Amino acid sequence: MQLTAIIVSLVLAAVGVALFARAIAQIYHAVKLGQPVPAGTRTDEPAQRTLTLAREFLGHTRMNRWGIVGFAHWFVAVGFLTLVLTLVNAFGQLFQADWVLPVIGAWTPYEMFIEFIGLMTALGILTLIVIRQLSSPTRAGRKSRFTGSKTGQAYFVEAVILVIGVCILTLRGLEGALHHVEGYEAAYFITYPLVTLFDGMSTNALQNTVYLVAMVKIGTSFVWMIVVGLNTNMGVAWHRFLAFPNIWFKREATGGTALGELQPMTSGGKPIDFETVFDDEGGEETQFGVSQVEHFSWKGLLDFSTCTECGRCQSQCPAWNTGKPLSPKLLVMSLRDHAHAKAPYLLAGGGKDAEGAEKATAEQLRDVPATALAEAERPLIGTADDGPGALGGVIDPDVLWSCTTCGACVEQCPVDIEHVDHIVDMRRYQVMIESAFPSEAGTMLKNLEKKGNPWGLAKKQRLEWTKELEKETGFAVPVVGKTVEDLTEVEYLYWVGCAGALEDRAKKTTKAFAELLHIAGVSFAIMGGDEKCTGDSARRLGNEFLFQQLGEENVATLNAAFGEDDGDDGEGATRLPAAKKKIVATCPHCFNTIANEYPQLGGHYEVVHHTQLLQHLVDEGKLVPVTPVEGLITYHDPCYLGRHNKVYTPPREIISRVPGLRNEEMHRHKERGFCCGAGGARMWMEERIGKRINNERVDEALSLNPDIVSTACPFCLVMLTDSVNGKKAAEDGRAKENLQVVDVAQLLLDSVRTPEVEAEAVEPEPEPEPVAVVEPKAAEPEPVVEAAEPKAVAVVEPEPEAKAAEPEPKVEPAVEAAEPKAEPVTPEEAPAKAEVGAEAKPEAEKAEAEPAEPRAEAEAEPEAAPPTAEATEPEAAKADDATAEDSEQDSGEGPSKPAQ
Ligand code: SF4
Ligand code: SF4
Repeated sequence: MQLTAIIVSLVLAAVGVALFARAIAQIYHAVKLGQPVPAGTRTDEPAQRTLTLAREFLGHTRMNRWGIVGFAHWFVAVGFLTLVLTLVNAFGQLFQADWVLPVIGAWTPYEMFIEFIGLMTALGILTLIVIRQLSSPTRAGRKSRFTGSKTGQAYFVEAVILVIGVCILTLRGLEGALHHVEGYEAAYFITYPLVTLFDGMSTNALQNTVYLVAMVKIGTSFVWMIVVGLNTNMGVAWHRFLAFPNIWFKREATGGTALGELQPMTSGGKPIDFETVFDDEGGEETQFGVSQVEHFSWKGLLDFSTCTECGRCQSQCPAWNTGKPLSPKLLVMSLRDHAHAKAPYLLAGGGKDAEGAEKATAEQLRDVPATALAEAERPLIGTADDGPGALGGVIDPDVLWSCTTCGACVEQCPVDIEHVDHIVDMRRYQVMIESAFPSEAGTMLKNLEKKGNPWGLAKKQRLEWTKELEKETGFAVPVVGKTVEDLTEVEYLYWVGCAGALEDRAKKTTKAFAELLHIAGVSFAIMGGDEKCTGDSARRLGNEFLFQQLGEENVATLNAAFGEDDGDDGEGATRLPAAKKKIVATCPHCFNTIANEYPQLGGHYEVVHHTQLLQHLVDEGKLVPVTPVEGLITYHDPCYLGRHNKVYTPPREIISRVPGLRNEEMHRHKERGFCCGAGGARMWMEERIGKRINNERVDEALSLNPDIVSTACPFCLVMLTDSVNGKKAAEDGRAKENLQVVDVAQLLLDSVRTPEVEAEAVEPEPEPEPVAVVEPKAAEPEPVVEAAEPKAVAVVEPEPEAKAAEPEPKVEPAVEAAEPKAEPVTPEEAPAKAEVGAEAKPEAEKAEAEPAEPRAEAEAEPEAAPPTAEATEPEAAKADDATAEDSEQDSGEGPSKPAQ
């Protein structure tokens, strides 16, 4: 027995070590095929990086969010690293059954540690096995996070760990029996029952059993090593090693996720400056985005190799959860498998130039396996029909364009894979070199280029909302270059954003926020027509050139408005610290871009989101919410406010300060918030596949039966409103007729306005009424802001009949009171009111009355009309959900979100 055990163990160990060493070299060389990263990134702050790695590993910071899974995995991971000494011990036992490690082998604390970790590793892996079985793809289908993972490999790894754990405990029991442990003692506090079990065996039998179990333990370990060594793309095993460098080299040394800003587009490890790129010698060699897997940086290739196939990203992905082909896990796995399969070809010198011609000679490629040569012919982005033979493209275009860049995958990934950066890198090549992207988005790009906003409207229309606000409240919003000379005269620049200035529903937020600033006495100004799109959508679509162009223009405008001087007059540049350049934005996309991405273009500002400023003003007592806004509310986290910038508390704080509101969280909230479907430039693309993401989100909200769905982003507002309106139009009882979708600023304004003032303004009433009741509106549903709107309106034309016709107005919650009655309007207001009224109509009716304008028309007459709710897609089309079939129907009826 002993001889057999020794021979089997040593042979397996020798083969295992050799193959494993070869695999390490292969992975190292494969990862090195990637492009360099900009100097200083990924290796800055080495001490901090090491601390981050230790914290993430020892604390299992991501995994622990998953409850018992994180706990179980912690023991498996720690056991894997620390129980390696038991392998050494097993080798010794092959030669002498009662052998123990020198120095520590008989040291009680060490033995207790081995006992405890050995047991917990076995229990941990058992737990993980059960969890995998409970959410098996065969039962849960697409809902399982393991769908698409390589199940056989996972089972193999789990079985190996379980066998090794059992072997460790069995060997401990045998050791105890051999050492004649006669009573319960600390060193055998777990395996003493096994000791007693083996106690009756003869010494010879005990020794032979030790040889056998040691052989099984060693053999299992090295069979694992052989299998892993032969499969460099076996992420479920390799992550045990690669996760360490992958976390150490993560984007943020301090441990933050790779969210917020996108990385500048680089070629050869240097950021591309589009103003000069073609001036430089060799500019035409510049690589724009990623068109071959080797165009990713080495960190990208390391990311792909590290994926554990755990599917946490997949389980959170809005695209995957609504039936689209994109799963971040499957995307990463595809890139990994492709990279590893193609590596022999690349390592032999293979590669294609910009024209697609082969760079290597036939002689160089002579020994390259046929599979690697075939892999090299696959387009990185292509359909199943595009590749050689049955291989197809590596990533289907529908996969690439389904991403909303919501960041849920990045947030959840336990090994810090940076999905969003990789997806955008692939988009960059498709957009900038191939011009291959969903055609609907082309209109948006053209409008950005020509007019500086996605709707292609004239810049003077950016000021329309200020006129409306002045009529409604008498407050004239200060505009830089008009009413104020520059921003040195005010505390904040209010960056309104394209949606905030031009989209009807978003304009309500804009007006509410400006009025709140005015009430709180905060001095601010807007850029008016000088504001251009920040370039968020262009960048996330992949048009880095356009982003850079818009960004540089905005940065120059902002810096000048803040009183900086570029020194063009020869007197030297003046620069102000960021703290002296305060910006507040209502749009999280603008907020993210200006705060996190404009520093890449030389713009450094102190940027806050409006919810942060409003919370501060409430805390300071400058805004006092007093009027109750009754109802059950649920708050939707905008991805670019929450996950990308970690602003979760201020909107909730504001809601909690408004009397009357009862907040209830949706199941998916904060870090696990579910996207509205508009990010990543998806706002400007049709959603042809699967259920609409906004419908999925609204369905989740409706499960709480709320009176109000609140958010803090103009894009979310539009997406959620569209879905709610569609569901109301469906009249299937899923959405209450009085359900409102509003920004938290609108809610706060409703509550800050005092009922006394409103009541006085309208007409004397026997008793004070809440403001929302003072302007009761008729039968059609209307957002809450309407209830809060009418100070000026009511004063101009009070309408006693309307009041008289409203029985018991006080008992109605604010959302009820927001319903439109025969609202008094001035003649000037008539068009705006008409729009609002139309917006509140059942969307199916709108679809009949005003079908979505063809895009061509919108392009031809971009300034003909501001984007109103009517101009958006027929809502009935959006309302459909649940099946891909339904969505196919939808898509045939017109563009989705864009207000053309
Ligand atoms: S960013 Fe969001 S939509 Fe894109 S892959 Fe990740 S989870 Fe899915
Ligand atoms: S969460 Fe990370 S490790 Fe897990 S499957 Fe997704 S990419 Fe891979």
